[in-house]
Amino acid sequence: MSQQVVILGAGLSGALLSVLLARKGQQVRVYEKRPDVRSGKMEEGRSINLALSYRGLAALEEAGVADQIRSIVIPMPGRMMHSPKGDLTFQPYGKEGQFINSVSRADLNRLLVEQAEASGVHLYFQHSCEAIDLKNNEARIRALDSGRLEPVKADLLIGADGAFSALRGAMQITPRFNYSQQYLEHGYKELTIPPTASGDFAMEPHALHIWPRGGYMMIALPNQDRSFTCTLFLAYEGETSFARLSSPEAVMDFFEKDFPDAVPLMPRLTEEFFENPTSDLVTIQCYPWSRYHHNLLIGDAAHAIVPFYGQGMNAAFEDCRIFYKMLDEFPHDLSSLIDHFQLRRKPDADAIAELALRNFIEMRDLVADPAFLERKKIEAELHRRFPDRWIPLYTMVTFTHMRYSEALKMGDQQNRIMRKVMKQFHSASVLKEEDYKKIVDRLKM
Ligand SMILES: Cc1cc2nc3c(=O)[nH]c(=O)nc-3n(C[C@H](O)[C@H](O)[C@H](O)COP(=O)(O)OP(=O)(O)OC[C@H]3O[C@@H](n4cnc5c(N)ncnc54)[C@H](O)[C@@H]3O)c2cc1C
Repeated sequence: MSQQVVILGAGLSGALLSVLLARKGQQVRVYEKRPDVRSGKMEEGRSINLALSYRGLAALEEAGVADQIRSIVIPMPGRMMHSPKGDLTFQPYGKEGQFINSVSRADLNRLLVEQAEASGVHLYFQHSCEAIDLKNNEARIRALDSGRLEPVKADLLIGADGAFSALRGAMQITPRFNYSQQYLEHGYKELTIPPTASGDFAMEPHALHIWPRGGYMMIALPNQDRSFTCTLFLAYEGETSFARLSSPEAVMDFFEKDFPDAVPLMPRLTEEFFENPTSDLVTIQCYPWSRYHHNLLIGDAAHAIVPFYGQGMNAAFEDCRIFYKMLDEFPHDLSSLIDHFQLRRKPDADAIAELALRNFIEMRDLVADPAFLERKKIEAELHRRFPDRWIPLYTMVTFTHMRYSEALKMGDQQNRIMRKVMKQFHSASVLKEEDYKKIVDRLKM
């Protein structure tokens, strides 16, 4: 493997990959256009907290930082559904002991950057990649404080520079490069539920809160400072949309009608609504992820997805873990390493992109549908009785590192079976022992 590695982006995947590569004895330099995350300046337009699950933790484990990160997360073993009347229903995500974790993006990034520096990685903040000579594997980097532009050459150049990657931008104008970007009609806006006057969480902290309302929804994840970050997902245009919420009165009316239990917990609702940006949701797919076999896109640069499965960062971290593992298989053959990596990961990136889009409908709509909830109960019972044969899709994606493409295939098969089951039974309470056996026997393994 090459010696001089240059990584564009010290975000989540760039910082993690730099640690992993340094562990393999590579000389790694990382160029990041933003200020050092340790300086405390918050980024605009990024989600404040994220759901970290099994795949992400497995990668952090390889980098030796999982325990440190576990100490700064808040476990969320299920969803707390808020009905329009304010009734609460808790739905576990998996079995006892299975949970996802709310983590602050800034804290996680800070820890990874610290670990990178401690591992001997050279980090250059406020250094933006402006152009790339793909053939020569040379990035043109501008130091934003001095304005100086310098060429930086690499044996391996990694684009961990996010959904609007400079490396991918250079690849996009080369022949036979496939690329698509698909925006949702919905945007998102972050709002806050602060701690109560006595300094407590204003709602149950060990849950991901959801207010499903059909075509739109709000969610909230807990933070270490006992606040919650809420995210409103709403169409840009139309009957119920950001476009219609153009005055504080309109915002208040909308929230009082749709999220009445949240309103008393959001003292700065209307101020925040107009102060905070509305951001886009995009799926980006492309291939190949390398040109000339000496550069590689990873994370959002290769596959940006919508956030509804809570898997974008987890998938980006899984890229890093798989690449790291493959280094041992191809220690002296960069070309084969890159080829094997992209061939292996592309179907999985496409699968999680599809699952994330589908989960928007599940979260905003189905989680409040009684028939869907009955189906979930039957599936949970199938999993309890046949833990190795019937694994619910959410569990496969969130609590295992089964390939996303296999999880999608298995989930589609389960769907076909469950559609028939639900026509026959309607409710979990009428199923007998032998019915569960018959259902599981329909699975083609
Ligand atoms: C609203 C929302 C909620 C989300 N929630 C979740 C969740 O719950 N769970 C989950 O797993 N994922 C979630 N995600 C997805 C997650 O944020 C991304 O998948 C993840 O950040 C990808 O990491 P990355 O390192 O590939 O890219 P990024 O985190 O975007 O990092 C890219 C870095 O590259 C830098 N950069 C960009 N261009 C240049 C340049 N030209 N030169 C130098 N540096 C550059 C950027 O400044 C940035 O630091 C969510 C996303 C959104 C939008």
